[in-house]
Amino acid sequence: MKLLDGKLVSQALKDKLKVQTAVRAAQGKKTPHLAAILIGNNGASETYVGSKVKSCEEVGFKSTLIRLEETISEDDLLFKLNELNEDDDVDGILVQLPLPKHIGEQKIIETILPSKDVDGFHSESVGRMVQGLPAFYSATPYGILLLLEHYQIETKGKHAVVIGRSNIVGRPISIMLSKNEYPGNCTVTVCHSHTPNLKEICLQADIIIAALGRLEFLRADMVKEGAVIVDVGITRVADSSKKSGFAIKGDVAFDEVSTKCSYITPVPGGVGPMTIAALMMNTFKACAAKDN
Ligand code: NAP
Repeated sequence: MKLLDGKLVSQALKDKLKVQTAVRAAQGKKTPHLAAILIGNNGASETYVGSKVKSCEEVGFKSTLIRLEETISEDDLLFKLNELNEDDDVDGILVQLPLPKHIGEQKIIETILPSKDVDGFHSESVGRMVQGLPAFYSATPYGILLLLEHYQIETKGKHAVVIGRSNIVGRPISIMLSKNEYPGNCTVTVCHSHTPNLKEICLQADIIIAALGRLEFLRADMVKEGAVIVDVGITRVADSSKKSGFAIKGDVAFDEVSTKCSYITPVPGGVGPMTIAALMMNTFKACAAKDN
C-alpha cells in the first residue's frame, strides 16, 4: 500500500505557484487576490478559512478575509458580494459554507461572478465543466484529480465508485472521472443513501471515492484487493490527547482498508490540503485570465 500524500503534493503545487507568482511580480503583472467571506463562528469553517488565508500568504497572493455576523441579512451579504464582484483588484471570491439557515446558499453562489468563482460552485462553472469547456473545477474534486495525476494512477477503463452525490464533491468528481481525458475515462457508479447494494458495488470498484461524511463507513470487506481509495470525509471525534480536544477522521476505516488497497489517502493529510492547493490554482488562473 502506498499513501496518496496530499500534504506533500499540495506543498509541491504551492511551491510551484509561489515561483509563478514571483515571476508575475517580476514581470510587473498583478498579484493574485483571494477574498474570503466567513460568516459566524463555526469552528470548522474558521479552520478552513484560516488555512486558505495562510496558503495565500505562503504562495505570495494577496488575501482579504471578511468576517460577517451570523445575523447578517441575505441582502447585506449580496451587497458585499456585489462590491467584491466590482472590485477589479479581487480575482477570486469564496464564501465559506455552510451558511446560516436564513440565507439562500444557491442565491449566494449564483451572485459571485463566474470569472471570480474560484470555488467552482456557480452553475455556469459546473455547466462548463460538464460540457468540457474551460472552467473553474470545484476545489475538492479538482484536488483529487491533481492527486491521482501526481501519483500517475491509471484511470482509463477503471471502474470508479463514488459514494455521495453532493454538488461540491460526489457529483462533480463523478463527472470529471468519466471525461475523455486523464485522469478520467473511468466507468463511474454514483452511490447515495438510497443505494441498496453498496457493498457489492464497492467490491467491483478499482477506485473508490468515499464522500459521504459517515465516520469510517468503508470497511475492508467492502474493498477489492488492490483498489485505489480516496477518502474525502472529515469528521471530528473527541480526543483528549489532542490540544484541540478532537481528532479528524475520515469515511474510510484506514487501519483495515490500508492492508487491502494499493493506494489510499490519509485523513488528515490527504484530500483536505489538496482542496486548498486546487483553490490556490484556481485563484492564480482567475488572475492570469485578466492579463490580456
Ligand atoms: P453531503 O452534502 O452531506 O453529501 C453526502 C452524500 O453522501 C449524499 O449524497 C448522501 O446521499 C450520501 N450518503 C450519506 N450517507 C450515506 C450512506 N450511508 N450510504 C451511501 N451514501 C450516503 O456531504 P459533502 O458536502 O459531499 O461532504 C462529504 C464529506 O466530505 C463530509 O465529511 C465533509 O466534511 C467532507 N468534505 C471534505 C472536503 C475536503 O476538503 N477534504 C471538502 C468537502 C467535504 P443522499 O444524497 O441520498 O442524501
